[in-house]
Amino acid sequence: YAVSSQMAYKIYDQKMQRSFDRRLYLEKELPKAIERQELTVFYQPKVLLETGELSGLEALVRWDHFRLGMVPPDELISIAEETKYIHRIGEWMLREVCKDIQNWDKQRLHIPQVSINLSPVQFFDDNLIHTVKTIINQYHISPSRLEFEITESISMFDIEQIDQKLYDLKRIGVQIAIDDFGTGHSSLVYLQRLPVDVVKIDRSFVMDIPENQGHIALTKAIVAMAHELGLKVVAEGIETIEQQQFLQSLQCEMGQGYLYSKPVPGKEVPLGCFEVV
Ligand code: C2E
Ligand code: CA
Ligand code: CA
Ligand code: CA
Repeated sequence: YAVSSQMAYKIYDQKMQRSFDRRLYLEKELPKAIERQELTVFYQPKVLLETGELSGLEALVRWDHFRLGMVPPDELISIAEETKYIHRIGEWMLREVCKDIQNWDKQRLHIPQVSINLSPVQFFDDNLIHTVKTIINQYHISPSRLEFEITESISMFDIEQIDQKLYDLKRIGVQIAIDDFGTGHSSLVYLQRLPVDVVKIDRSFVMDIPENQGHIALTKAIVAMAHELGLKVVAEGIETIEQQQFLQSLQCEMGQGYLYSKPVPGKEVPLGCFEVV
């Protein structure tokens, strides 16, 4: 027993060491990713649940490292936030999205709106508003075609910082969505206090509809509350017709998920209508 538990520790240690090494390595590699052109933007459609029309796209970063291959976005973002490199990546994302919108417009492809994720860390950048304004102007993008998604996981401690910057963003004319709604702790306060246009119901609620009665009840309550406050709702992670039909029955405006499309490169963005029976 003593021997085998020692072995187990050794393996555990090696695993820890490996994940630690990986992290250190990725921290070192991330600043080179942009110039090496390893980062790209993928897009996932958001669909109007009433008609099946494309309502917009969510831009999602992808990192294809020359040695390690695809680095999961959650891992990338966590490293980027810790090293503060998220500011560079955020700016790069916005620029790429604006370029893509410009190209779609030139080709007369109608993309109503694109959403970009903003990390809470980016709100501590005093240049954020200026940067956003400058890039949008540079590419002549109408601000109403951009939406910023902010996660609900920001703590109450940060809310003052974020409150002011969100109002500044709204003044530019972009839309604001609260992401992963239902997973944080201060949901109600947020909705009432922050200048938000859209609520995105987290995938974890939608995932186990119709089996999970609790999640059904919560989803109903979130949609009703959002509508009461005059907000639109996007349901994330729709994978089945049953989930779609349930959300349609709640008058949830938009859906996003593998049922319609996985995130794809800009060149492969699906246009037109999706089937919503
Ligand atoms: P998120 O903002 O909640 O993005 C939605 C995630 O759910 C995406 O994962 C998407 O691929 C996945 N997804 C969408 N529909 C389905 C579905 O039907 N089933 C399943 N199983 N998954 C679905 P992804 O691309 O891996 O991104 C993970 C997270 O990384 C994002 O979660 C977001 O928090 C963060 N992220 C990605 N790109 C960026 C970025 O450019 N900036 C920032 N700050 N964060 C980003
Ligand atoms: Ca998001
Ligand atoms: Ca989300
Ligand atoms: Ca998420």
